[in-house]
Amino acid sequence: MRGKIAAVDGSLAIAEMAGRVVQNSVGYCVRGDGTRLLSEVIRVRGQLADLQVYEETRGLKIGDEVEFQEDMLSVVLGPGLLGQIYDGLQNPLPKLAQQVGYFLKPGVYIHGLDTETKWDFTPAVKPGDRVAAGDTLGTVPEGIFQHHIMVPFGWRGSFTVEEIAGAGSYTVQDQVALLSSDSAPPQRVTMQQTWPVKTPLNVSRRRLMPTEPLVTRVRIIDSMFPIVRGGTYCIPGPFGAGKTVLQQITSRHAEIDIVLIAACGERAGEVVETLRDFPELTDPRTGRSLMERTIIICNTSAMPVASREASVYTSATLAEYYRQMGLNVLLLADSTSRWAQAMREISGRLEEIPGEEAFPAYLESRIAAFYERAGAIELRDGRIGTLTIGGTVSPAGGNFEEPVTQGTLKVVGAFLGLSRARSDARRYPSIDPLDSWSKYRGIIQPDKVARMHTLLVQGNEVQQMMTVVGEEGTSTEDFTRALKADFFDNCYLQQNAYDDVDGATPAERQQFVFDKVLEVAELELDCSNKAEVRQAMVRVTDLFRNWNYAAAGSEEYDGWLTKIDQFIASKGCPPDAS
Ligand code: ADP
Ligand code: MG
Repeated sequence: MRGKIAAVDGSLAIAEMAGRVVQNSVGYCVRGDGTRLLSEVIRVRGQLADLQVYEETRGLKIGDEVEFQEDMLSVVLGPGLLGQIYDGLQNPLPKLAQQVGYFLKPGVYIHGLDTETKWDFTPAVKPGDRVAAGDTLGTVPEGIFQHHIMVPFGWRGSFTVEEIAGAGSYTVQDQVALLSSDSAPPQRVTMQQTWPVKTPLNVSRRRLMPTEPLVTRVRIIDSMFPIVRGGTYCIPGPFGAGKTVLQQITSRHAEIDIVLIAACGERAGEVVETLRDFPELTDPRTGRSLMERTIIICNTSAMPVASREASVYTSATLAEYYRQMGLNVLLLADSTSRWAQAMREISGRLEEIPGEEAFPAYLESRIAAFYERAGAIELRDGRIGTLTIGGTVSPAGGNFEEPVTQGTLKVVGAFLGLSRARSDARRYPSIDPLDSWSKYRGIIQPDKVARMHTLLVQGNEVQQMMTVVGEEGTSTEDFTRALKADFFDNCYLQQNAYDDVDGATPAERQQFVFDKVLEVAELELDCSNKAEVRQAMVRVTDLFRNWNYAAAGSEEYDGWLTKIDQFIASKGCPPDAS
């Protein structure tokens, strides 16, 4: 079906059409020079279709042709996704750059998977077997994983395997199976399939309550504000507070199989940083490049605004695809505020009734729908796959009282708020221990977490008071409390991302250290004045800091631990001190 452009307004094009189109179907706006610009029908009004154009619309004129397609905005799924760097429309960026140079040209679309690579296929079914959507037909090795080749997710009903390819090498477009059903002629299956990005992909027996802690090896997260596999969290924070660095640390150390980074609408310089850093990072578990288990969807503020939206949905779909293989997947979106800005812009052009701060009224439901794509699922064969989603929010001026942050914290399970004061003081990771929260249960017993949290709150109150009445006006008891809170912060909550040992603390070590820190925090010090209290806390802080840097099982590790135990036994006055 065809139509004609009636108006163009930024990323919005209005087309008059001769027939009917379906909401969210794809259309190509054909520029005078023949360039076809990908767009999506986002509203239909009688004979008019409003199209969100995923490319620069410059050069598009009234009267230009629009080719409407049957299908929805989709991605291609199959082996070869891992390690890729895509734009929001799943164009492999390195290949695109090879073809058109580094200044992206609109209207050039490249297949998301390499169609020439051959993959070593091992069949998992035999002729005569009954299968249904999502069932594994065979596997191919991809990086360190077995990539499952599955019955296309959109196929309804059950099928009989007529033919299955033998063990051997095939491209993603070669036939690997022929499936028949009672109602339709036999259909061929290849290693690739497509899926519409705006439809959640979940073929499973049931959804599970996410409860298994996702250990990030970042102490303040795992111990105080835990996240779980299949859960959701957000990281709001002002510019420069450490959102991107925190995401990088998590992608590297978190105990998950696959990471998707959706670099969405941040300034080009920062995105380039991600692109440059990632391929150089090694996966601490395998010693191989981190990229082997990563997919980057990349979209800078210089790229068309509408494709930010596409990159959010594209990344969610790719993440869900790997969840279908029974893997633990983590999707990190940086930053969801930029996506929200794109929504605001297009909503303005559609002249919709604006909500708070001119964001569309459906902002919250879109945010909720995005995070709802996370979850733990039990696959049809009993295996479990999880998708965890973490999104950064970058509110102007770091003010959390704005629609995107507020809309996000209504739906996520954990809120890791970064504070400007902490990042200015170089207290990294700059997650604010007083503002942040988590609804999940982590690796530390909740009552212990609560005790530490109380100490932090009390310590903060004393600190506030001390700035008014000074140290002299504070009781020794209160003073001790403030110092202990500070001790916990210095020795546990802060962590040096750039140190090999301190940068990543495994769960067991966190549990062990937490208990020690708690013991010190609740220790009745044998001190008679503030000077002695300060001396004791400086001493023990030093011991813990050294302990954090010592490799597990090393002599230093045992040495520092012994000293800490002596400190505790002597109530802060060990004989060999001073
Ligand atoms: P944002 O994404 O919030 O704008 P970044 O993550 O880019 O901020 O962090 C800005 C800078 O702060 C980094 O370049 C780095 O120098 C410093 N920084 C952030 N987090 C850490 C950390 N955990 N450890 C050490 N330095 C950090
Ligand atoms: Mg950033």
